[in-house]
Amino acid sequence: MKALIIGSGIGGMASAIRLAAMGLETHVFEQNAFYGGKINSKSLGGYRFDRGPSVFTEPHLVDELLSLSAISDIDFTYSKLPVSCCYFFDDGSRIVLPTGTSAVAKTLSDELGEDFKHVERRLKRLELNYKAVYAVFIQASLHRVRQWLNRNLLNAIYRIPFYGLFSSMNSINSRAFKNSKTTQIFNRFATYNGSDPSRSPGMFNIIAHLELNVGPFMPKGGMVSISNAIYKKAIELGVQFHFDSRIDEILYSEGMVKGVTAGRQMHECDIIVSNMDVHFTYEKLLPGLKGPQKALKQEKSTSAIVFYWGIRKSFDQLDVHNIFFSKDYEGEFNSIFLNKTLSDDPTVYIHISSKMEKEDAPEGCENWFVMVNAPIDTGQDWKIQKQRLRANVIRKLDKLLNEDVAALIEVEEDLDPLRMEKMYSGKNGSIYGNASNDILSSFYRHPNFAPSLKGLYFSGVTVHPGGGIPLALNSAEIVQRCVKKDFSID
Ligand SMILES: Cc1cc2nc3c(=O)[nH]c(=O)nc-3n(C[C@H](O)[C@H](O)[C@H](O)COP(=O)(O)OP(=O)(O)OC[C@H]3O[C@@H](n4cnc5c(N)ncnc54)[C@H](O)[C@@H]3O)c2cc1C
Repeated sequence: MKALIIGSGIGGMASAIRLAAMGLETHVFEQNAFYGGKINSKSLGGYRFDRGPSVFTEPHLVDELLSLSAISDIDFTYSKLPVSCCYFFDDGSRIVLPTGTSAVAKTLSDELGEDFKHVERRLKRLELNYKAVYAVFIQASLHRVRQWLNRNLLNAIYRIPFYGLFSSMNSINSRAFKNSKTTQIFNRFATYNGSDPSRSPGMFNIIAHLELNVGPFMPKGGMVSISNAIYKKAIELGVQFHFDSRIDEILYSEGMVKGVTAGRQMHECDIIVSNMDVHFTYEKLLPGLKGPQKALKQEKSTSAIVFYWGIRKSFDQLDVHNIFFSKDYEGEFNSIFLNKTLSDDPTVYIHISSKMEKEDAPEGCENWFVMVNAPIDTGQDWKIQKQRLRANVIRKLDKLLNEDVAALIEVEEDLDPLRMEKMYSGKNGSIYGNASNDILSSFYRHPNFAPSLKGLYFSGVTVHPGGGIPLALNSAEIVQRCVKKDFSID
């Protein structure tokens, strides 16, 4: 049997590995000249930048993938970061938040006046919630009863009263904590799937568990090492990659996939896994097929503007992950989702891999990945938006770091929603497909298979179970389970 994967993002390459490990002839078609999708890297002057993701959690999912099938010596190592994030607030205060339940509770108690025991209990509750939903909602297809109907379901049902299903993340967090700064820290995790904390269901507070109780990790060599290791594994298993090869159409007849076209060439296959944004898969590759409208018509997730700055100075007060919060967090999300514009006081995230990976910047310098959540592209003039944003970001950083930041920028590049749509084929530049701004949003995510076309599957962050590297890896595992079942492969 022959499988064809559209796209070499992490979800696509993980699907390829899993299908090749099952003995299928597997081909990956990638429109770009490089693999990894959003997990790719760029060098500018003497600086190296990871262009997309920077926060790495659940590394065991990558280990598991690399240990599938053939024995290999793929070098993929990582270390746990002692500090989850360095937070800067508008009043000039700064909190260095460590990782680990007790350490986080102690810091929030010492610095923000929270009750130590209360924070510890909340964090433990998030851990239990996370573990309860994992086997039922994250590792399984919600659309195949046999996958989630297992003994873990009872525990997931038992914990329903603790999830906060009918409240937003913000309403739960603002009730749970005394200090609005603590609320802002916990609300921030809504952005990990491109959503608004005031509308995202309280259930998504479980994301905080991974970063606060467990802590983020940093791969040796930067985030791009994840793509490199997975690519090597795929090659080892005999997966064939075709770069600069955009798929233009999915061919089917009598309810079954038959192949694809790339340019003028047709490629036959039995199974297709689309790692392309699910909206564009229907719109561009299957114009004649009506996709599930409920799933496809949901509000889209955020996009982002990223500035890649080579900074000729080293900042002791910064860590690997840093957040400079806006004063009006709610207003900022209203700007993004309602007004489709950027706030003049944006929350700024700065990732500096050179804090760990010294060769990522010249000595005494730092590679700043400066990211601001942005609305999807609805025809805004991004040149003007970026100019204004750059000035606002610099003004904010100058104030909070007491430094003339613009004067320190040695090399520079940026990324905006329009470019993101072009480079990765994400609908309107959205990063995660649908936003999770609705109680039922998890149920409105597209399944990992096409309901009306046998042999077509989906992996990546635009489909179930959702946004982020760990979930994209889970989506590939679900695809594998579905293929095994549908084609009776042992
Ligand atoms: C700026 C930014 C920051 C992020 N930060 C984080 C983070 O800190 N942590 C985290 O876990 N996640 C983060 N994410 C999300 C992250 O990118 C995803 O978790 C993950 O990398 C997406 O993987 P994916 O499998 O969905 O595919 P993608 O990376 O979206 O790749 C899809 C691939 O399909 C290809 N493709 C599309 N259409 C076609 C076609 N017709 N033919 C051939 N190829 C095609 C594209 O070129 C692309 O290579 C971030 C994303 C961005 C943009």
